[in-house]
Amino acid sequence: MVLPEPPLKGACLCGSVQVTVTASPLLTLACHCRDCQKLCASAYSLTTMVPSDAFSCTGELIKGGLGSSGRTHYFCRSCLNFVFSQIDGAGQRINLRTSVLNEAASLEPFVELMTDEKMPWASVPAIHSFTRYPESLEELQALMDAYAER
Ligand SMILES: [Zn+2]
Ligand SMILES: [Zn+2]
Repeated sequence: MVLPEPPLKGACLCGSVQVTVTASPLLTLACHCRDCQKLCASAYSLTTMVPSDAFSCTGELIKGGLGSSGRTHYFCRSCLNFVFSQIDGAGQRINLRTSVLNEAASLEPFVELMTDEKMPWASVPAIHSFTRYPESLEELQALMDAYAER
């Protein structure tokens, strides 16, 4: 897997929201949970996890999703494209939707989550697969270390 060099850039569907990532991604994920299926109107969500302090975004955002699960989901105000999420208690990381990045094609998922709820016909080339989520922050850190070493 050849990874794109930072800075990574991207935009929402209409181009009103522009994102820039000035560091290498921490991890790439596919999540098969039912919530992600609905939020992304797809079989699974694609996430590129990046350090918050290396992430910048211009344009008007609005919050979407349930707004109650400890996750805040941000969408472009104009085209309503899902751009990124922030998880309570994980302020140092941004879960950017891989699809908005220009480099999306080379950011294939390294980890897949929630295969318990996977569409039976959906498959991704992830190296690490979880029926639910990693058990602990240590396990998540080990995945990020493995991703950095690839
Ligand atoms: Zn837009
Ligand atoms: Zn999910």
